[in-house]
Amino acid sequence: MNDTGATSRSFTNTVMSLLSRGGHSAHSERKAGRDLMDRISDFFARHDLEVTAANLLRAHAALSGIDLRLARKIVEREEQDQPVTQAWFDSIAEEEEGRTDDLADFERLNADLNESIESFSRTARTARSAATDYKIALNEHTRSMESPGTTSQLLASLTDLTKALLERTRQAESEMKRSEREAASLRKNLEKAQRAAEIDHLTGLPNRRAFEGLLERHYREARGELEPLCLAFCDIDHFKIVNDTHGHETGDRVIQMIAQALSRASNDNCHVARQGGDEFVLLFRNMTMREAHERLDWVRERLSDRSFVNRTTDEKIGAITFSGGLADVFAYENRRAALRAADEALYRAKGEGRNRIVQAEKER
Ligand code: GH3
Ligand code: MG
Repeated sequence: MNDTGATSRSFTNTVMSLLSRGGHSAHSERKAGRDLMDRISDFFARHDLEVTAANLLRAHAALSGIDLRLARKIVEREEQDQPVTQAWFDSIAEEEEGRTDDLADFERLNADLNESIESFSRTARTARSAATDYKIALNEHTRSMESPGTTSQLLASLTDLTKALLERTRQAESEMKRSEREAASLRKNLEKAQRAAEIDHLTGLPNRRAFEGLLERHYREARGELEPLCLAFCDIDHFKIVNDTHGHETGDRVIQMIAQALSRASNDNCHVARQGGDEFVLLFRNMTMREAHERLDWVRERLSDRSFVNRTTDEKIGAITFSGGLADVFAYENRRAALRAADEALYRAKGEGRNRIVQAEKER
């Protein structure tokens, strides 16, 4: 990442040209699809990458703009004239591994719960078919009682039939109870996993997945209530230097400390989440751009006034700052466009010297 505004602007332009999707505001979805396909095949050819399902998924996520982090990493790599090799692509995937593990746990529980629901309905089906069998057999007996024969014989077989039915009902009942217990315990585990899958382990903040849910909910509600909604991306300045100089553990503590600092801005109207790496995302509900800007700038300023020391080595770390890009969500066509605008504003903040909050330009 560079300090000069010009280079940063060209960086942003390159990200945008990597993502440029003419079809977004134009009407032709098909053209957009073809453009995206062209960019993907061009990308594979440029880097001589093997066309595997995993590579295609990643390339699609980056080149369609779904995964802006990956898009940026690719641009950085291309700007450094380095190829996007398979090893590099895989290492990027490893960074996401923790999150994927959580998701795998979650998927497994989900499958268990579905299996339990399936076994529950199997039991119900068995109980129902036992009752139907009994009804059919009873009808036959009623008919044979009307014809001549020995009553005692009929009564005996009727008693046997009832006993058999009672036994099957008892079995079905206990199966049903067991399934109910299993389903209840699975549901509880699933809820627990659902909560865990939405929390970032390092900072305890909601993660990107949780933020997507928050954004969707507040977008819907704020639009209905005609309330303003703003969002901001914040990224620690020169964080790689902290990692390189003081080690990854100290880097982790710095991320935790920034999370705490940003959390100070949060309340019922302001939500903070960790987007990933050294990047955070904030949502300001019912706050104008000016109010959101002031709140975020207050955190930025207080933080930049402090000086930090590495707890384990007593070495001076100095000031830790972050940059932010702020966007008015309803000034854009949709949520994704607003997210992109905030991200672009963040990169302008980096290019303009860092340790500042920049407001995104409005689309309309
Ligand atoms: P810039 O001011 O342009 O943002 O420069 P930077 O050095 O902060 O660059 P960038 O934001 O691209 O770097 C983020 C680094 O954060 C890269 C990655 O190695 C590191 N990182 C990502 N996740 C973690 C983490 O969980 N812990 C630690 N310690 N480092 C992380
Ligand atoms: Mg950074």
